[in-house]
Amino acid sequence: MKRFVLLWLASAVWLVASIAILEKVELKKGELRLQFNDRYNKGAIRHFTLKNPYREIFDIPNARLKHSRIGKGLRSSHCHSIRISQYKRNTVRIVLETERGYGCNPYRPLFSYKSYHIPLPPFKVGKKHVAKKKSGKKAKTKVSVVSSKKKKHGKRRRTVAPKAHMIDTSKNIYARGNGELIVIDAGHGGHDTGAIGGGKREKDLVLQIAKRVERQLKKRGFRVYLTRRTDKFLKLPQRTHIADRKDARIFVSIHANSVPRSKRNRVHGIETFYLQKTRDAKSQRIAARENRAVLKGAGTSLSKKVIIDSVLNGPKIIESNKLAIDVQRRMLANLRAHYRGVKDGGVRHAPFWVLVGASRPSILVEVGYISHPKERARLFTPRYQELIAKGIAEGIQRYLNNRKREIEL
Ligand SMILES: [Zn+2]
Repeated sequence: MKRFVLLWLASAVWLVASIAILEKVELKKGELRLQFNDRYNKGAIRHFTLKNPYREIFDIPNARLKHSRIGKGLRSSHCHSIRISQYKRNTVRIVLETERGYGCNPYRPLFSYKSYHIPLPPFKVGKKHVAKKKSGKKAKTKVSVVSSKKKKHGKRRRTVAPKAHMIDTSKNIYARGNGELIVIDAGHGGHDTGAIGGGKREKDLVLQIAKRVERQLKKRGFRVYLTRRTDKFLKLPQRTHIADRKDARIFVSIHANSVPRSKRNRVHGIETFYLQKTRDAKSQRIAARENRAVLKGAGTSLSKKVIIDSVLNGPKIIESNKLAIDVQRRMLANLRAHYRGVKDGGVRHAPFWVLVGASRPSILVEVGYISHPKERARLFTPRYQELIAKGIAEGIQRYLNNRKREIEL
């Protein structure tokens, strides 16, 4: 009995001590951003969905609103409503009423233990959409990621019944793709050949690799969308818009590099980029070359300012950087197991137009130098391409695995 009382006392003290105050809720960059007064254990947050109408619900235990005006009057064209309330004495509830499921994936930004970000749907409410196919299986008691093979609006849904204590922490939830959508973008196409070396064209090489990446990802349980499957031209902004429209988890653009004739025998290797302003002259040169298509093309409303605005530090950059590191590592590991002299050009940032405005982790892979005679010969062999493709797929898988683990910390 005594022990019971002690335990009760201890837990009461713990409860009092661990009440977090939700100080601020704001809408920024398509996310609902919560700010607590202190470190907050996001693992305790219960996230589940309800239908008719569709709602993403977050119950935040051991938390109180700083005052009753917190989160009042928040409006977004992407949600029917955003409601924040002191649902129970020590539980804050957030309800996003949206058009349909969108695989909402909240996270704690890196180095910010007091914040919690909830991405809003990428689509606006009120638009017509194809009615959801009734799924026979309905998740009842624990996290289930329902993958759908439908082409249109096939959304994964994460459903946690209110009773589940917290998100299922089984590590292998991302061990396979679970139907998450990855957009793979083969650079250039049509009249835009990209780099040319020894009569070989970048646009052909990257399409071949993109198709191999698609197969590798599908084998791992992902859904894949290729921005182009044929030799056609797409404007750069169209490429990321596809990723947004499809609500992709990740965007990967595939390119091959090139240097002028005078350097062609010296410069080779694999590089992975994520979008960020840079002072690095080499990165700037590569970006300038890849950006040429959009800078030439009229009719785009993008301006230099757009780049600068969108590259200000944000979670997408941190996430894109992590994704870039995983993909670069796995490509190198696969290639080096079979080839000598594969050079690591590193993970770098550069202002690539194709990555501007991407609202998901987005990277650009330069699979090698088409201008380098030896590397070019390798790049056009099925074996080398397959190892690159496998590396990209493994990198994506690894990134998502780590991401999942982070969310549950
Ligand atoms: Zn390119």
